[in-house]
Amino acid sequence: MSENTYNTIIVGGGIAGLTSAAYLAREGQKVLLIEKNKEFGGLVNSFARDGFQFDAGVRALINAGIILPMLKELGIELEVVKSPVSLGIENEIIHIENVESLIKYRELLANLYPESLEEIDEVLINIRKIMKHMDVLYGIENPVFKDLKNDRTFLFKKLLPWLPKFITTVGKINRLNMPIEDYLGKFVKNPSLLDIISQHFFKKTPAFFAMSYFSLYLDYFYPKGGVGKLSEVMKMKVIECGGEIKSETKVIEVLAEKCLVKDENNITYKYDNLIWAADLKTLYKITSTEGLTSKIKTKFEEAKIKMLKNRGGDSVFTLFLGVDEPLESFRKIAHGHFFYTPLKVGLGKTHREELDSMLDNFEKVDKDQVLNWLDKFTRLNTYEISVPGLKDPDLVPPGKTGLIISFLAEYDLFNKVQKAGWLDEFIAELENRVLGVITDSVYPMLKDKIITRFSFTPLSIENRIGSSEGGITGWAFQKDMPVVNKIQISDRSVFTPVQSIFQAGQWAYSPAGVPMSILTGKLAADRILKQSRR
Ligand SMILES: Cc1cc2nc3c(=O)[nH]c(=O)nc-3n(C[C@H](O)[C@H](O)[C@H](O)COP(=O)(O)OP(=O)(O)OC[C@H]3O[C@@H](n4cnc5c(N)ncnc54)[C@H](O)[C@@H]3O)c2cc1C
Repeated sequence: MSENTYNTIIVGGGIAGLTSAAYLAREGQKVLLIEKNKEFGGLVNSFARDGFQFDAGVRALINAGIILPMLKELGIELEVVKSPVSLGIENEIIHIENVESLIKYRELLANLYPESLEEIDEVLINIRKIMKHMDVLYGIENPVFKDLKNDRTFLFKKLLPWLPKFITTVGKINRLNMPIEDYLGKFVKNPSLLDIISQHFFKKTPAFFAMSYFSLYLDYFYPKGGVGKLSEVMKMKVIECGGEIKSETKVIEVLAEKCLVKDENNITYKYDNLIWAADLKTLYKITSTEGLTSKIKTKFEEAKIKMLKNRGGDSVFTLFLGVDEPLESFRKIAHGHFFYTPLKVGLGKTHREELDSMLDNFEKVDKDQVLNWLDKFTRLNTYEISVPGLKDPDLVPPGKTGLIISFLAEYDLFNKVQKAGWLDEFIAELENRVLGVITDSVYPMLKDKIITRFSFTPLSIENRIGSSEGGITGWAFQKDMPVVNKIQISDRSVFTPVQSIFQAGQWAYSPAGVPMSILTGKLAADRILKQSRR
């Protein structure tokens, strides 16, 4: 093969692309992984600033029967610790240790909403039901990461007995595919209670996915050294297996008929197969189908229309803080992964109708109106707070603490403010408000102790990883989903209308996250290997 010719080229060095590259290189394919940034990992990435280690994307990992089996199968050692979760509303904080913690959750809600005890019990019944489904779903290691030919014990003792339970469970899960707001609305009439349970999920998150979070809280783990260690070990595996990697290289064109990709410097690379493990709208915008049959062209155009009509799901605003205060002060309050809501009132229409109407008339809205809305939004919101040092003390300078405070944020708001020319001012106002709310409520010791402070907006995410609308888990939840969204046909999620082009990662299947990105990365690699064996 000539220098720039490969069996498989993978575009996008996030966790999905790294997975595909590792598996294909391991099987002896000539592989090239192309990444536009200097670092690999995409949204699974850690970085250092002023002596503090922070996680840029996901704050901890959910195994989901996928990540640890994959590492084992690839022979990768990664030191991990449990990443326990705390939940807090106003002054009530509970630590989730095991299934029995559901009782503490019930008490917490009952103390805050004594008028809604029946509704709370109904919520608990539903969470327990869904936890049982999750026990089935993640009950065995994902068979995609097992050697079924040689591991007969797994095949006969685990997989075959599990399959009938899985099929029944999938049916039940599919019936819970409605938006969480609608699902809870059937039995929760107290609007504050409904908000508090659901407001840190993406708009219209399928009920099953949202209600399964209690199970997922118990599944979180954290690599020593930061979440980005997972990407680092995967990158090393690709190299160890002879895969080629190319960073700081942005792909700007795909010529489907010639099987070529072109980078910003006009360098072309030829492939037999391509895996696109990055934003899918980009793939459809930059691919030329010239020379392909009219049937494929039509299918491609149809898929393109569907993709471009849809948008990325909610994005996130993140405030990073370095604090001159020891870890112990924070350990006394909550675990290193903490979902906290300062007021039990709930966001109500603030992050929905009120924001939408402000955005629809943005030219007529003045700064004060936006800032007033921001006051309310930051006071009523739910925050995901991560303290990496509580999971691995080596991630902070002695006697100090790093905090990552984030919440779901609407891309269009940041975009419109930027166009109106006051983004920096807006970000500073937002940071101040978030700090004020957190200092006045759960972490008063932050006051006057902050030594490092900066933030990432949905626009930073869009710029850095090329994600449409700054989406952090792929597509927004809409009826007409442009990709596969049923677990029983997830193996089809990797196909595109062009036979030699596959898709993987958070845009290839919905709902997505790290485990699904890894799974689709592996499924795409498997398809290519199967095809090449034929
Ligand atoms: C704050 C936050 C919290 C999260 N919490 C969770 C959670 O609790 N659980 C969970 O499962 N998931 C969570 N996620 C989501 C999860 O991190 C992502 O879904 C997953 O990491 C996506 O991986 P990926 O490889 O599909 O895509 P990405 O990580 O987006 O990787 C795509 C890569 O492609 C590169 N690229 C893009 N365009 C090009 C181009 N033209 N040429 C070359 N390279 C290109 C990008 O730079 C990027 O590195 C969270 C994310 C964030 C940000």
